[in-house]
Amino acid sequence: MADDCLFCKIVAGEIPATKVYEDADTLAFADLNPQAPTHVLLVPKRHFADILELSADPDASAAVLRGIRGTADAAGLSEFRTAFNTGAQAGQTVFHVHAHVLGGRRMQWPPG
Ligand code: AMP
Ligand code: ZN
Repeated sequence: MADDCLFCKIVAGEIPATKVYEDADTLAFADLNPQAPTHVLLVPKRHFADILELSADPDASAAVLRGIRGTADAAGLSEFRTAFNTGAQAGQTVFHVHAHVLGGRRMQWPPG
């Protein structure tokens, strides 16, 4: 667990979250500030800062993709958007890699 990482603390159960999906390698929980009717964050249980770090670990990368699939199934979504913000300029505020899984409304493209 990384020091002072919000999402490591959620994985450890030290900070409460509304769980949507869990498997051996990943956890998904509701975003506190939802941007769509369904807005879930899927994280690997191990700490990686962003997809640049995650991509160096093929097993963990695959686990995140499986977790996204499991999250969509658990949320009843067959159509959804997945976003990974990487770096502050791209909007990343929590530096434990997470997939935003959004659905339940028509999505705009480009996102802005
Ligand atoms: P990002 O801006 O891509 O780093 O996304 C961070 C997301 O975490 C934002 O959408 C926040 O609303 C969400 N968030 C922050 N704190 C919590 C929390 N304690 N539980 C659930 N979601 C959170
Ligand atoms: Zn972490």
